[in-house]
Formats: sequence, structure tokens, C-alpha cells
Amino acid sequence: MSSQDIMKCAIFLLFQSLVTYDVVVANDCSRHQSRIARKNLEKNFFPKFQNHAYVIPDNCAWNPAKDIYLNQEQNKEVDELGRAVCNFCGKIFVSEYHIDLHMTNRHQQHILKDGKEACLADYCDILRCDILSGDKRTGYWDEALCNEAQLKQLRDSCEKHVRSCVPDHLEEDKKIDFIAELIDSTCSALTCDKFYESGLDKESVYSSTVYIILFVVLGTGLVLYYTVAIIHFFTDDSFIKETDEYSGNYSQRKYTAPVGSEIRNRYPAMAAHR
Ligand SMILES: [Zn+2]
Repeated sequence: MSSQDIMKCAIFLLFQSLVTYDVVVANDCSRHQSRIARKNLEKNFFPKFQNHAYVIPDNCAWNPAKDIYLNQEQNKEVDELGRAVCNFCGKIFVSEYHIDLHMTNRHQQHILKDGKEACLADYCDILRCDILSGDKRTGYWDEALCNEAQLKQLRDSCEKHVRSCVPDHLEEDKKIDFIAELIDSTCSALTCDKFYESGLDKESVYSSTVYIILFVVLGTGLVLYYTVAIIHFFTDDSFIKETDEYSGNYSQRKYTAPVGSEIRNRYPAMAAHR
């Protein structure tokens, strides 16, 4: 094989790998992230439509009818220990991760692919998936360096999506009210004041702080206890003051049982000759 053939072959392989990579990326939609985005919408967005008995328009990207994984997600049951059952075939799995793999490998036909499908994970920046799931641990500096201008862009994007989801047939005043209601429930957390708010985070930060304080208090207590005990029993000094009954000349003591400094005396034989 000539060097020209080798070069052609290398270019072909590189082209193939790029095409394959593009296909993989184009079809990639995180189930985990989609699940968190869906939970956010189920809590803050969909109930608003139910309250007013409004139908979510087809062109709304968050319409459940466009959700790639909704059919699969509705056909699995996961208990609090993480064990999962596939309702398509009845198989049982030890974790949600394993049933997710199973759904991908065995039930591809239940992943929506009609050309109008939407990947909810694509809206995770707006729907704060990383914060709500606890996947991203945030601290003081994240909040201190929060960029309000960036969040304003996200808020604008969120409001744009919300507007596209309002039914067209509504009267103008009802439409304005409903848009305001949706923006308040779905987009209002996109400010530096609220962006890092998450019940899960607060709880875990609170419990971590309590554990750290308990650990420090218990650790300090143990160190102090053993320091006092070592000094008291194994050195000639003691933090514990001896009473009159036990102090003074050994020969004048009432009791002969070893107490206090006698126990601590490392050379009892020498002490007896003093
Ligand atoms: Zn199955």
C-alpha cells in the first residue's frame, strides 16, 4: 500500500468517526437531566394549565406529548430503595440506572421520534436541573460571584418559552394574566437571589453543618478527656486538686488503698523509701 493510499484511508476513517460522533451527539438526550426538568415542570408549570383547564398548545416545547422519554418513564416503577420494574416486559432491576439502560437497549420503539420530539434536558439551564438535583454543589463563592446579567438572559429565554406555551384562543387580558402567572411559577427563580435555592440543598447543607459541629465538639471533648486522664494517671502533675485527707505525709493517711498520686506514681518502690 502506497503512502497516498494510507493517507486516503486515514482521511476516510477520520470522516467516518466525525459522522458517527455527530449522530451520537445529535441523538443524545440525558434521561437523568430530562427527569429533573420534567419534575420541575410537573411542579411549577403543568399545574397552572390544569388549574385553568387550559390545553398546552402543540407548538409548546414543554408539551408532554413531545417529551422523548415520557412513554418509557410512565411505564416503569421505581420504589424508594431504587428497585425498578419495567411495565413493558415485567423485568425487575436493582437500580434506576439499570432500568434506564434496559429501556435504551430493549424498548427503543417507545422513545418518541416523530420529528417534533423535544429533549427536556435541553432546557436544564432554564429549569435549574443541576441545582434542584443537587448534582452541582454550590457554595458561598457561587452565590457571591453570581452574574445577574447572565441570569437575565436565561430569564428572557424562559419567558420566551412560556409565551410560546400560552393558548392562542385566550382573550388578551386573560393571556396577559396567564403569562404573568407562568413566568412567576417557572422563571422567577432565575435571579441571583433565588437561583441557588433548593430545598434539597438547604437540607443537606444544614445536616452537613450539624454533623461537622457535632464531630468537632465530640473530637475536642475526647482529646481533652484523654489529655486530663494521661496527665492525671501517668505523670506526677494533676489538674485535679488533692483534698486535705489525701495530701501530706503518706504515713499519716487513714487509708492504705492506693489513691490519686500513688496510682500515678511511676516509681512506687522509690516513693516508699522517701
Ligand atoms: Zn422491559
